[in-house]
Amino acid sequence: MSASERVSCLIIGSGPAGYTAAIYASRAGLKPVLYQGIQPGGQLTITTEVENYPGYPDGIQGPDMMVHFEKQAARMGTDIRYGLATAVDFTGPIHRVQIDEEKWIEATSVIISTGASAKWLGLESEQRLNGHGVSACAVCDGFFFKGKEVAIVGAGDTAAEEALYLSKICSKVNMIVRRGEMRASKVMQDRVLKTENIVVHWHSITEEVIGDKTVSGVRIKNTESGKTVEIPVSAFFVAIGHEPNSSIFKPWLTMDEAGYITTVPGSSKTNIAGVFASGDVQDKTYRQAVTAAGSGCMAALDAERYLSAAGYH
Ligand code: NDP
Repeated sequence: MSASERVSCLIIGSGPAGYTAAIYASRAGLKPVLYQGIQPGGQLTITTEVENYPGYPDGIQGPDMMVHFEKQAARMGTDIRYGLATAVDFTGPIHRVQIDEEKWIEATSVIISTGASAKWLGLESEQRLNGHGVSACAVCDGFFFKGKEVAIVGAGDTAAEEALYLSKICSKVNMIVRRGEMRASKVMQDRVLKTENIVVHWHSITEEVIGDKTVSGVRIKNTESGKTVEIPVSAFFVAIGHEPNSSIFKPWLTMDEAGYITTVPGSSKTNIAGVFASGDVQDKTYRQAVTAAGSGCMAALDAERYLSAAGYH
């Protein structure tokens, strides 16, 4: 086995939850070590302007905001490192986390802030226009398409909720549903179907997001008739679910069926003492930068109390 390093507080993940946990843990003297993962800054680094994070009256670009988070954590003394947690061993009172399939870190407390990843359709055009009219977050980006016609793909509660949100801002919302029914709860479906400016395209799959530098339309195919139509839209929202980045913790932590880590209500505690979870990896409901940051703060405070109570700090 390769040599291991001992730390009192290990933070895994570098989105708003991880960096906020780092700021609080550093200020509390826990000398946290933070591993950033493969996408330093997390999901906000693939969005454009963020207008709903308090404290930025003029808005800010997502990647810039995450640089601010990182700088603040570094200024407080967090040891920020590039590296991916690839395995964990939570058998003993000292938790072990492997980085990059090599080095093991031994940590008295661990804060998991590994986030979630939006699922994508997998089209080349979707990837190319990501951030230029293609988005996986209507609440984040819908406002930029005020008064415009847009499309959203998906038929779960998220898609229904986001379609309703968009219908209040945009002139028309085209909802692309691959089957002849929706997975969303009945009440959400009813609301969608009753909303005049939402048009549901049943039995439809997206063939291509059209646009050179920005989205100008979407081509969809009706799988029953075989007919293809092009709809002129300014934005294409993908709402086909998220995947929490929690697979390495599966053998150890209690999760729901979708893989979201279960925390004790009102706290960031998991089923293992000294292991805390914050941000989107444990939140499938709100998924906002500000709620993730808030839960990162909770995790650091919980970790500090745990370390004090256990006599480590
Ligand atoms: P879901 O997994 O519930 O739904 C995903 C939707 O995307 C399904 O309709 C699915 O279609 C569709 N889909 C998946 N892959 C594709 C694809 N390749 N092409 C086209 N469509 C596709 O995810 P959600 O994010 O909607 O919800 C996750 C969980 O969070 C659920 O339990 C939900 O109830 C909950 N939630 C609750 C809310 C609330 O109560 N207010 C709000 C938001 C979410 P198909 O049905 O054909 O499989």
